[in-house]
Amino acid sequence: MKILVINSGSSSLKYQLIDMDGEKVLAKGLCERIGIDGRLKHEDVNSEEVVIDAAMENHAVAFQMVIDKLTNPEKGVIKSTSEIGAVGHRYVNGGEKFSEIVLSNDDIVAQLEDSIEFAPLHNPAHITGIKACKEVMGDVPQCIVFDTAFHRTMPKYAYLYPLPYELYEKYAVRRYGFHGTSHKFVSQKAAEFLGKKPEDLKMITCHLGNGSSLCAVDGGKCVDTSMGFTPLAGFMMGTRCGDVDPSVVTYIMKKENLSPDEMADLMNKKSGALGVSGISSDFRDLDAAVEKGDEKAKLALDIFVYGVKKFIGSYAAAMGGLDCMVFTAGIGENNAMLRDRICEGLEFLGVSIDDEKNAKRGGNREISSDNSKVKVLVIPTNEELMIARETKELVENLK
Ligand code: ADP
Repeated sequence: MKILVINSGSSSLKYQLIDMDGEKVLAKGLCERIGIDGRLKHEDVNSEEVVIDAAMENHAVAFQMVIDKLTNPEKGVIKSTSEIGAVGHRYVNGGEKFSEIVLSNDDIVAQLEDSIEFAPLHNPAHITGIKACKEVMGDVPQCIVFDTAFHRTMPKYAYLYPLPYELYEKYAVRRYGFHGTSHKFVSQKAAEFLGKKPEDLKMITCHLGNGSSLCAVDGGKCVDTSMGFTPLAGFMMGTRCGDVDPSVVTYIMKKENLSPDEMADLMNKKSGALGVSGISSDFRDLDAAVEKGDEKAKLALDIFVYGVKKFIGSYAAAMGGLDCMVFTAGIGENNAMLRDRICEGLEFLGVSIDDEKNAKRGGNREISSDNSKVKVLVIPTNEELMIARETKELVENLK
């Protein structure tokens, strides 16, 4: 079965066509600047990457261009859309109502509209993508996979905020957690890599990218995660502040005369590594600035490392032990220096890094030393494949 995976943003649409027979990516690409002008970047097994500038007034037009590219009579990787068994859509947060993967229909889409406020930047775009796909693909099964799904196993004492209980009942204000598809993928892969059953492992998965989160995975199930009601929570990220004393929020709003939206913008887009360093949200730029002796860039990295370390300690305590740590995403997969700094001082937990192994690049790998009690792994994440696997499973169960 071939599965098309879609991740639509407000002006973008990312896609991957995966042949589940061997889990091979046949084609992938990105439509950008939808509704502005339009650009399609596409690559597939039959040809090199191409960049096409073409008007895309909306997501349906962009999606049709993707389909035309996939089914191109000369170089297309499929002959017609009938070869696509199902479409899997990424959806950031379906609130309390939606967490398990669902098969889309008009009723589900209408209900999803009620979840928009849980991720106002992402959810409307996902709904637009689902509708555009329906317009172009007709009755091909479309499945919706929620970023929050993996975190649904958290116990109530871990996801409930100690605010008046009726606010939870009225507004479903609680910890949801994000990057769930990634945490699930790497935790499963890590168990496979170690030749162990997920049920036998206490694991901390560290998804460190522009947005970052940690997840405590006990026996294959999420028991806690650092992001919360929104992806702003946790430790410092590229442009997001992570957890701060809540009183700081109201204090700064008063002092700077900011509206709630302006304050949200400050914490989401102007804080984190960018806000502290004043240089960049990209950790490569910070590394370069530290090399030149920039003190604020160094401070930003120190805050990041300290924040990750504290979550590791608290999750080891929450689970009552630790067998494995996994690093993934842009920073986790590529920044050996930060991996080393995060693990430094965790010897008391049984974590010991082998510098030579840590310096190597490549796919799934172990970076802990032979005598390390805790296995430390680097596992490249693959959210698209995880969405495709879950979509395939659901569609096959429908038969
Ligand atoms: P997103 O959350 O947008 O998917 P990524 O997972 O791509 O982001 O992570 C972006 C971060 O990863 C940046 O801070 C960047 O510095 C870092 N990064 C990405 N690629 C590399 C690389 N090859 N070497 C070092 N750092 C990298």
